[in-house]
Amino acid sequence: MAPGTKTELIRPRYLPPGIIPKPPLFKRCGTWSSILRLLYERWGDPYWWPGNSAWEVALGAVLTQNTAWKNVEKAISNLSAEGLLSPSVILQTPSTTLEQAIAPSGYFRQKTRKIVILSSWWVRSGETVNHNQAGYDHMRSELLSLWGVGPETADSILCYGFGFPCFVVDAYTKRMIRRLRGTATDLSYDEIQHEVHQQLPEEPFYFNLLHGLIVELGKQHCRSRNPQCVDCPLLSLCMHGKTAIR
Ligand code: SF4
Repeated sequence: MAPGTKTELIRPRYLPPGIIPKPPLFKRCGTWSSILRLLYERWGDPYWWPGNSAWEVALGAVLTQNTAWKNVEKAISNLSAEGLLSPSVILQTPSTTLEQAIAPSGYFRQKTRKIVILSSWWVRSGETVNHNQAGYDHMRSELLSLWGVGPETADSILCYGFGFPCFVVDAYTKRMIRRLRGTATDLSYDEIQHEVHQQLPEEPFYFNLLHGLIVELGKQHCRSRNPQCVDCPLLSLCMHGKTAIR
């Protein structure tokens, strides 16, 4: 692809109430601002996270653990076809039925247990807590206390389901930043998230954009094997890429 060429990605996605799509036209320097701008120049809005409700985002965030998104789509489609796309219905459904429906996403016994625990929390806390007013720290610690919910899953739910300005760090992000800096070891989840939170304005949609765009980069260019550096939108920032194409 010629440098500067922009391709648009459009797919159905859930946006929490009050989150308004806007281009990253803020005036700030720093690596993460540059990454966001360069990726946005190439792909625009990545229309992430796929789904129709906050609950579907949460469900997808658990089901996508250790599997590709296309498998999650099949599992959610099965749940939808059987009328099981609601936490209260999930709680009344036999485990074997849930296991069968989500089988395409892999680890179906573990994941069934996880979505039942998440459903139970969702129904219970929905009665007493306004999720959007409870605050990021409170919501995050509640989610992290649930079996099967780690930082990436919790932040995916908080960013894409509830619209909190928090960055989701995934394997694509760790690989990208390791290659950009030409280092051999990964930064931790918290180190990367802290850097991003320091450098980007506290605007939820920018965090929404950045993670979705890094997923796109990971799929199209910064793959684990044979990264496609020649026409990568981040080549100008990347130590590994500059060495690789010499
Ligand atoms: Fe990854 Fe290559 Fe792009 Fe660097 S230039 S981010 S290594 S694809």
